[in-house]
Amino acid sequence: MHYAQAVDSAKPATCILNQPVTCLWGVGAERAELLGKLGIQTVEDLLLHRPRRYEDRRQTVPIGTLQPGQTALVRGRVVVHGVKYYQRRSKSVYELILEDGSGRLYCHWWNLPFMEKYFRVGDEVIVFGAVRHLRPATMDHPETEVLEADEEAGAHFERITPVYPLTEGLTQRWLRGLVWRTLRQLAHQISETHPELVQAGYLPRGEALNRLHFPAEMEEVERARRRLAMEELLELQLRLQSRRLKLQERARPLPCGGDNNRLIKPFLARLAFKLTQAQTRVLREIRQDMSGKCPMRRLLQGDVGTGKTVVAACAALMALESGYDAALMAPTTLLAEQHYQTFRQWLAPLGVPVVLHISGRPAEVAGTASPQLAIGTHALLTEDFAPPRLGLVIIDEQHKFGVAQREALVRKGRYPHLLIMTATPIPRTLGLTLYGDLDVSVLDERPVGRGHIRTFVRTPDKAPKVWEFVRQQLEAGRQAYVVYPRLEEGDSENGLKALLEEGEQVRRLLQPWRVGVAHGRMPAAERERVMADFRANRTQVLLATSVIEVGVDVPNATVMVVENAERFGLAQLHQLRGRIGRGAHASYCILLAGTKTPEALERLETLVKHEDGFAIAEEDLRLRGPGELTGQAQSGLPDFRFADLRRDLSLVEAARELARRQLGGGGA
Ligand code: ADP
Ligand code: MG
Repeated sequence: MHYAQAVDSAKPATCILNQPVTCLWGVGAERAELLGKLGIQTVEDLLLHRPRRYEDRRQTVPIGTLQPGQTALVRGRVVVHGVKYYQRRSKSVYELILEDGSGRLYCHWWNLPFMEKYFRVGDEVIVFGAVRHLRPATMDHPETEVLEADEEAGAHFERITPVYPLTEGLTQRWLRGLVWRTLRQLAHQISETHPELVQAGYLPRGEALNRLHFPAEMEEVERARRRLAMEELLELQLRLQSRRLKLQERARPLPCGGDNNRLIKPFLARLAFKLTQAQTRVLREIRQDMSGKCPMRRLLQGDVGTGKTVVAACAALMALESGYDAALMAPTTLLAEQHYQTFRQWLAPLGVPVVLHISGRPAEVAGTASPQLAIGTHALLTEDFAPPRLGLVIIDEQHKFGVAQREALVRKGRYPHLLIMTATPIPRTLGLTLYGDLDVSVLDERPVGRGHIRTFVRTPDKAPKVWEFVRQQLEAGRQAYVVYPRLEEGDSENGLKALLEEGEQVRRLLQPWRVGVAHGRMPAAERERVMADFRANRTQVLLATSVIEVGVDVPNATVMVVENAERFGLAQLHQLRGRIGRGAHASYCILLAGTKTPEALERLETLVKHEDGFAIAEEDLRLRGPGELTGQAQSGLPDFRFADLRRDLSLVEAARELARRQLGGGGA
């Protein structure tokens, strides 16, 4: 055999992309296990293993011309090497000296004596690293590879060379050789999975994989990435859109457009305020969907405080007028309880039964009346909740739920209408990716007469002034929230505060005002009492964990102090800030940083600069990536290897369009 074969000739020759890696030459059970740690199970996984970076090994630098600080690739022969021990053999340095005709390079590795085994005098070696100093030219801990005159040398040298994420026990050289051999043998067998992408000008699949690993020029890497990213995005879009098409074909929509505003009219008449234009517009869209040709699948996006709840109430009333049940699911017991209070107040005068479902508490007797509005947490997903004619499912704060949960509730009926609501402003890439199968309504107008919210970032030394300010506000008749990143186990060394440990001190500081405590781990009944006290201004200050992040609505509360604000995500802080500014009074959000590091403070300043949740979400996405923002694990968003939602908006849009054309003009 004059060149190494990728596929073991003793194994079936039909080795193709979805075969396990063990069908490759040189991969036994042990190496397969190591590859498994990198997420590589199949041959295709191997080819999709994305290089971490590339080294331009077309140009080596003669040792004699190296400059201090320069990062360079050097090729030479080993002239001397060995380990020196010191401090009674507890420490060591391994030294490797290379010579390339123009000079000598000294390479050092501390406390890695076993490095000695890898090299022999006379070996031809390349090293890549930063030059620490000259005379003699020195590199510390460079990357190295021994050059061997084998058939696959072309993979490793005199080219742009891929450098892969590795795991202990695998070497760069071995993995690169494996990818090289596999591509050489299989490249012509890699069939085109998406001819429409090639038609649209993207690289064919086989070529993209080749260039991803072994590009002739660096620009090719990005072209290859774009092709592979498109593949990921297109597959997701096809899935989303065909799900929607199937729904349109199969489902017979329930007529839930209402009955001449029989309930809505008296509801709106009794309401203390007039709907905003945005609310009215969205309700029109919802009514059209609910009386239309296929079940509604609508996302209602509106920044905190834009008044989504009353829209949800009107949508529920449409279903109820039409004789169907409605269900509203919220992510926390606290929020479910609050919605229950609000809706009962709103709907009881109309004779509409409202039932609360939270775990550990049986639903009341009204549970059997129909049509009814059920409000609850995940408890709605249990068998106990079985509405006879479910016409509408509403999911509040939907970003807190997974797709699976949302669908589980939908399956309680026969294709009920679905309205999902979120205050998390979704950057456009994410919106198109996560919610590609939904129509979107936006509440882009705040109710009038709201006090302005001012936001401040304060360092720990300013805390006394902050508490003084809170007292002034309390004296003026307002109420305040104080939010902690943790319930207990603060860490005074790191300035990390915990609710249960700080409570006493805050009480003392704010005497004689009354202080309540709410968190997720207290019994529901007790928390309800605490919230009721705060709502009724029997307590003036509420200490809480981030449980109050969603939904809590107390218009007289105008101060929000967030302890250790640096511990929260920006989008989350924006949500917390949404708890104030709900009444006519001016409101104040004070972000108390537990640290003075400039990066942390600068990040918090984003909230001072932007009032608009949209800008904040974009910033959060840029700083932290999509996972943080969406709770990726449960969002149904796949782990993209090549697509980058932070910058691939144009690809997402193109994929959406291609999917739509391919599925025959359907979709959103
Ligand atoms: P979110 O969109 O954050 O869920 P809510 O539905 O909780 O907002 O509404 C915030 C507050 O604004 C509530 O007190 C609600 O009663 C009030 N509200 C809603 N719509 C209007 C309106 N059109 N005019 C005045 N206040 C309104
Ligand atoms: Mg809300």
